[in-house]
Amino acid sequence: MIAGPCAIESRAQIDLTAKFVASAGAQMVRGGAYKPRTSPYAFQGLGEEGVKLIADACANAGLPAVVEALAEAQLLVLEWYVDMIQIGARNMQNFALLQAAARTMKPILLKRAPFATLDEVLYAAEYILLEGNPNVVLCERGVRGFDPQTRNLFDLGGALRLKELTHLPVIADPSHATGRVSLIEPLVLAAAAAGLDGAIVEVHPEPSVALSDAEQALDFEAFSRLMRRLDALRGTLELKPKLTALK
Ligand code: PEP
Ligand code: MN
Repeated sequence: MIAGPCAIESRAQIDLTAKFVASAGAQMVRGGAYKPRTSPYAFQGLGEEGVKLIADACANAGLPAVVEALAEAQLLVLEWYVDMIQIGARNMQNFALLQAAARTMKPILLKRAPFATLDEVLYAAEYILLEGNPNVVLCERGVRGFDPQTRNLFDLGGALRLKELTHLPVIADPSHATGRVSLIEPLVLAAAAAGLDGAIVEVHPEPSVALSDAEQALDFEAFSRLMRRLDALRGTLELKPKLTALK
């Protein structure tokens, strides 16, 4: 489980969140410092300052950090301060960025673009592997649909098909897939029950004042309930389907 705010907003916000998600059982903290916002007038993230804040917060919480890179120039900062580099949906086919990120030799969290076929996801991953970096985690974060009731269409079938096609771990991002707090817990549980390898969710100490993606951020109570239910489910998961890559 990777959890944390959409954007790093302040020292207090990221410290509090990292500590909380660690105590609730998360394995890794997320937080955006360079934000790919649809509108150039929206909050763009704290940049390098944000990266330093999440590095401190994670050192205190005892968990590794994952932060998105939007551009090659940011990799110098990210490779110094964070443990995993996220390539976001909008950059899945930014091949020069994929190669440069791969060469940091940090593990890469590669998100599926909302328009990408599974073959395109796999070729994007190959750009990283071909640089000699074997540590790629794929992430299903919803593809563009036709119904505004959910932000995107969460393609669980596609994510499971990826598991059949590759040895790489595949995780679910129901926060960006649905854009709705109420759907995040059930989809994390569905993904776990179906055999995906993990999830990344947005968590904020006070979602109503979050500077980005406020409507999809879990508060601390909702996140700890999710972790308890996930634990309970995993107790029953000898049921877990064995999904193995076709060799
Ligand atoms: C994010 O994880 O904050 C993000 C921007 O996600 P995506 O690239 O999937 O939209
Ligand atoms: Mn977000």
